[in-house]
Amino acid sequence: MLREMGLGPVWKLRAPPAAVPVEAVAVTAAADGPLPETAPCIAPVPRFASVAAPGAMAWDELAATVAACRACRLCEARKQAVLGVGDVNADWLFVGEAPGAEEDQRGEPFVGQAGKLLDNMLAAIGLKRGEDVYIANAVKCRPPENRKPADEEAAACRPYLEQQMELIRPKLIVALGATAAQTLLQREIRIGTERGKLHDCRGVPLIVTYHPSYLLRTLQDKAKAWEDLCYMRATMQALRSA
Ligand code: URA
Ligand code: SF4
Repeated sequence: MLREMGLGPVWKLRAPPAAVPVEAVAVTAAADGPLPETAPCIAPVPRFASVAAPGAMAWDELAATVAACRACRLCEARKQAVLGVGDVNADWLFVGEAPGAEEDQRGEPFVGQAGKLLDNMLAAIGLKRGEDVYIANAVKCRPPENRKPADEEAAACRPYLEQQMELIRPKLIVALGATAAQTLLQREIRIGTERGKLHDCRGVPLIVTYHPSYLLRTLQDKAKAWEDLCYMRATMQALRSA
């Protein structure tokens, strides 16, 4: 399984019934029953006021605003702000931490090593960048030296992510790593204890899992990430048939 989950071959869940991993069967079975209790967002945030009309105009305006944003000090060293990429009508919204060097250069999230792993993770559950998936980051500008975004930087940038949520209206949000999870759920999150549960972010179901960069460094948690993928897929199936 670890070989399967490495960076080489494309990560694919096999078709049932013969070769489905044990964990997949377990979560699929669990998803037939009621979904797990949801944990509410602790601090409800006011809706982003400037969303006048959804659609292309709102996206254009959002893109222009983010490109010119100077609301936090991350504007100083960025080459460009990285809004997000993908299908604006997607059922899936994946949220990472912040752009790295390659993302800052190219203006697209997850295009470096972590992005390759993310693409393989998406492929494992039958998803492809740009098709029914939107990928964004909690923070739109690259923190210098790839440090973690500070709380005040994440707070300054959060209205943009909220506006993206409003425009996309995803069925399910996947928070990749603690920074994304904390920004979205507005409380301290440890992925190890919060994964495998269905959370609620302002009415939208949310699942947390490990950040791909962490998985690249921490081989032993890849098996858990695999379980999380199975759980996501089962949850989406349940949401679609609800
Ligand atoms: N890591 C992230 O969290 N986001 C990116 O876009 C790239 C790497
Ligand atoms: Fe603005 Fe967000 Fe960039 Fe900070 S990180 S300058 S809030 S777009």
